[in-house]
Amino acid sequence: MRIFKWSKFFILFFLYVDVQGQSFIGFNSKAIDVQKEMESLIINLPKSEIFKKHLEALTKEPHLAGTPANKRVADYISKTMLDAGLQVERPPYDIYLPLNAGKISLEIVLPYRKPLNIKENIEQEDAFSTNPAISHGWNSFSGNGDVMAEVVYVNYGTKEDFEKLASLGVSVKGKIVLARYGGNFRGYKAKYAEAYGALGCIIFTDPEDSGYMRGLVYPEGTFYSPSTIQRGSLLTLDYTGDPLTPFEPALPLTGNNSVKRLKPEDVKDFHTIPTTPIGYESAQEILKLMKGKPVPEAWQGGLPFTYRLEGGADLKVRLMVEQPKGIVRIEDVIGTIEGTDFPDDWIILGCHYDAWEFGASDPNSGTAMLLTLSEVLGEMAKKGLKPKRTIKIAHWDAEEHGILGSTEWVEQYRSELSKNAVAYFNADGACSGLSFGGSSSPSLKSLMINATKSVPYGDLKETIFEKWMAASGNPATPPVGNLGGGSDHLPFYAHIGIPSLSAGMGGPTLYHSGYDDFHWYMKFGDPGLVSGVTITRLMGVMALRLANSTILPLDPAQYGKDLNTHLDNVQKEIKKFSPTYSVSKLKLITDEITKNGELFLKLRDQVLLKSLNSASLLAINSRIKWLERAFIDEKGMDYGAWYKSLYASSDPYSGYASWMLPGFLYLASNKETEKIAEWEDRYAKSFQQLNEEIKVINELLKKGK
Ligand SMILES: [Zn+2]
Repeated sequence: MRIFKWSKFFILFFLYVDVQGQSFIGFNSKAIDVQKEMESLIINLPKSEIFKKHLEALTKEPHLAGTPANKRVADYISKTMLDAGLQVERPPYDIYLPLNAGKISLEIVLPYRKPLNIKENIEQEDAFSTNPAISHGWNSFSGNGDVMAEVVYVNYGTKEDFEKLASLGVSVKGKIVLARYGGNFRGYKAKYAEAYGALGCIIFTDPEDSGYMRGLVYPEGTFYSPSTIQRGSLLTLDYTGDPLTPFEPALPLTGNNSVKRLKPEDVKDFHTIPTTPIGYESAQEILKLMKGKPVPEAWQGGLPFTYRLEGGADLKVRLMVEQPKGIVRIEDVIGTIEGTDFPDDWIILGCHYDAWEFGASDPNSGTAMLLTLSEVLGEMAKKGLKPKRTIKIAHWDAEEHGILGSTEWVEQYRSELSKNAVAYFNADGACSGLSFGGSSSPSLKSLMINATKSVPYGDLKETIFEKWMAASGNPATPPVGNLGGGSDHLPFYAHIGIPSLSAGMGGPTLYHSGYDDFHWYMKFGDPGLVSGVTITRLMGVMALRLANSTILPLDPAQYGKDLNTHLDNVQKEIKKFSPTYSVSKLKLITDEITKNGELFLKLRDQVLLKSLNSASLLAINSRIKWLERAFIDEKGMDYGAWYKSLYASSDPYSGYASWMLPGFLYLASNKETEKIAEWEDRYAKSFQQLNEEIKVINELLKKGK
């Protein structure tokens, strides 16, 4: 055994020496030696059996936020990190949430009475599916009510779909709408349905989007079976976090703190109509009885008949949702390995741990990876190999209801984070398949790409980078996405301006369903347990490169390049209603950013050959750390002041998609010609500030040359 291990060690060691030219950016020669040793350990210590043990323990039972089962998961996380030698904190918050899945009833009442199934079937080969703790499908933050009405099919229920219906003369007023999943965040389906006067909203997964049209269904394959249901939150407020404490942490009601809380009735944007998700076997029961005109071609889904717009007066459906809500205690679990040299520089890695049911892929494949990484870092610390900067490993609660646990923590520690945080890496469900992908803020893109070149993919001799490029058709530039909304990086990135990235391996999933369990994971998700170890290594390498570098390896030149691309898009959007508009003034500044950013990269590498005194290094690194803060604009976005980053946001119309330069995109979506000058001014100020900051850093570097 030992001999085998060592021979493997040397193969891997050889691999990464091979690419070290790109690896140790920001390191001086003294720091490189220690880093090499630490990286070889971070690559060789993670074991797939350990990852598997954690994943199995974390996903034994359904563990929704606020339940005793979720507290047991938090206890396991906490104990694992304590045993590994990390300091562990469990900050509690009292937030406004559904108390449980509530009561739901859905039935056809005309032309005959037929109750419809709202829960996954038991599958004999999947023992988890027999667990009585699995709840029926539900959407948190649904309105309550008991309605009986005719039905209208609204395709994906996007803004455009409802506009199209209106143009076809079909009214949803007083009706129950049927919307299929996909195309936007589910909360907007309910929001638009309500705005157009619908009484209720039923959301189903169409077999065209996941189901037999795509391939074999569970348990034979990994696509949605007829009874598989996507659960999920509907929250669509104009801020993220606890609905009752916008901008403020929802500190516990017990204890002496004075957080102002809204009353639930003061939050005007809660949904009021009953909304619930179902599988396609139940949707089929309703859709097949519809009698109206056929749908436009693009609206046809995968069920075996022609879809129709309206059900007519002979078809009536009853939907009842009773979802009690109140204050629920949640807690984040945060482990810390304090940096030996710069304890006030924080590199934060995180993944939520609450799940709709078992959460094997989403989120706990990421949790199991972070626990594996904690143990490896703990083991290295015991050998005396501690990071120079602090590494925090965070497990967030209540993400599924609307990114709540992480947002409250960011709001509580806003000033400390603004000062100390170097970067945030998100790992939500990060190890649930075999294809690598990542999205990142500009300054971290090269860190991610370079790290994938140093990390072996599973037991293969190939690196993540090689597998990633081969799978994406060997593009000229690695396809790193633009980070937007959708998970716990949002408060770090869009609210306080911490450079963030999200990376992991994925594949087809039974997303947010009762079947996202350990049986599914071992049969379809990642039976060879490749992703757990691979992503542990990658996250570890990226974290340690930030933690131990002499000069932080963030790339300011990339801001200029990416801004240029986004400005082209802005110009295109604004020209649609203001044909003379040009972004050329702003491009003059972004060209400066690119130029000064490239000068920074050159100066940094020259300075690293000299020995710089620690005071100037400290000054340089602090300023590099704060560059992204230049995008933070206190007034925030017109669609919500909580969204303060001028650079990135989630799309306010669809929730998930990324919006780059969101201030501009929002005014373009409303054709607000009169606001162009104001926004151009705000953007110019922030770009100039970023450029000035880079110039100051360059001056400091020149002194050290
Ligand atoms: Zn998740």
